[in-house]
Amino acid sequence: MKNIHAATARNIGRAAEVIQAGGLVAFPTETVYGLGASVYNPAAVARIFKVKGRPAFNPLISHIADVDFLPEYAQADARATALARRFMPGPLTLVLNRTDDNPAVDLACAGLRTISVRMPDHRVALELIRRAGVPVVAPSANVSTTISPTTARHVFDSLGENVDMILDGGACPVGLESTIIDLTGPQVVLLRSGFITREELEAFLNEKVVPSSGNPSAPKSPGQMLRHYATRKPLRMNAERAAADEFHIGFGAIAGDLNLSASGDLAEAAAHLFDYLRRADAQSRHPKIAVAPIPGEGLGAAINDRLTRASCK
Ligand code: AMP
Ligand code: MG
Repeated sequence: MKNIHAATARNIGRAAEVIQAGGLVAFPTETVYGLGASVYNPAAVARIFKVKGRPAFNPLISHIADVDFLPEYAQADARATALARRFMPGPLTLVLNRTDDNPAVDLACAGLRTISVRMPDHRVALELIRRAGVPVVAPSANVSTTISPTTARHVFDSLGENVDMILDGGACPVGLESTIIDLTGPQVVLLRSGFITREELEAFLNEKVVPSSGNPSAPKSPGQMLRHYATRKPLRMNAERAAADEFHIGFGAIAGDLNLSASGDLAEAAAHLFDYLRRADAQSRHPKIAVAPIPGEGLGAAINDRLTRASCK
């Protein structure tokens, strides 16, 4: 694990130099660990797709360190600007029309005329982006379709030394990928559920946020792909009880072998989710996994979304 480095000021400075030189740096955000490269370096961006085994049609989110940078990068109308002012930094990604046709960015955008932008709410991520001086594209730092990483060790277990540097900033506090909304049409479309809930966005915008009707096999947002976040072992949802061959992940009063949140707190459950899925996969006593019912409201929608995709064959 010689590529894991504590996220000290000095190491963040070195990581920024790695990004400027066209390398790949894994770093913590409040959602999951990201695999970062300069958006303006197509060779580095191509390496992200290769290392992750990510299909080239799946565009990457650009991470910025300053809301004021948004209009230079994307067409931000009044609605987008209001959302940015309210939710950035934070786990919300906006899909907007591009302002420039800088061909260097084409690969990151998978050739689309739109670009997705987010400002992470994490000290290490923000300092890294600021010091690199460029927007940093950063999909989750794991092999495509597998469980997302919420610790530096998870990154290493998935990508090993294919990454130039892994900045260790501890466990990710949110633990689920950002909410993604598409603002390029008349209606706001929810492309991926996350910590910022649809209800919260609707209350702020005072308008409906419509769930994406996308075709999951040709997704507009590949986070919509049916099989994603997958465990190696078969996973069953809504399990009040586990069979003898199942490792049971509990919630609330259903204790299980590991409990996502004994007090039934959805934020705590989200923060534990990917780590517990990994542990359930890694233990050798049970060939299958069962997960207790999780309420569907609020943040529960995002947790159930990830479990549904993880359980898909
Ligand atoms: P990940 O990097 O694995 O968290 O996935 C990022 C998600 O953002 C993917 O599902 C992408 O498809 C989605 N995304 C990024 N850029 C765009 C875009 N321009 N239009 C629609 N979805 C996007
Ligand atoms: Mg991912």
